[in-house]
Amino acid sequence: MKKRNRAKCLKCDTIVESLLPADLQMCKCGNCGVEGGTEAYKLIWEDLSKIVRLEDDNTETPIKGDAEPAPAMPPVKPSRKEIMDTIGMSIKAFENLPPNAMMAPVTHYDFLSLLITMHALFAEEQ
Ligand SMILES: [Zn+2]
Repeated sequence: MKKRNRAKCLKCDTIVESLLPADLQMCKCGNCGVEGGTEAYKLIWEDLSKIVRLEDDNTETPIKGDAEPAPAMPPVKPSRKEIMDTIGMSIKAFENLPPNAMMAPVTHYDFLSLLITMHALFAEEQ
């Protein structure tokens, strides 16, 4: 079983998780983000000392490394096709969940993700 791709921002106390290769999830304050799903464990950060990896057993592992932070990228506005592709991949991912996972309750993070996706989609249409 593949390890989950999760990180916790110690600045804003947000846990982010990337489920799919094209799924970039940023924390509330923008200090950290994860991408790549379980295929590639990509991490984006501003202050590495304020981020921990969240292991599958929920233990927190400090991130070591002397790499320079990735240069801040300007926000990229996704196209309608990219948004629809992301929604399509999410639908497929949900359809492949085992029945016990389908019965798990939806969290406010899930609801927020849906609202952000809808907001991006309708903003694109204007
Ligand atoms: Zn943060």
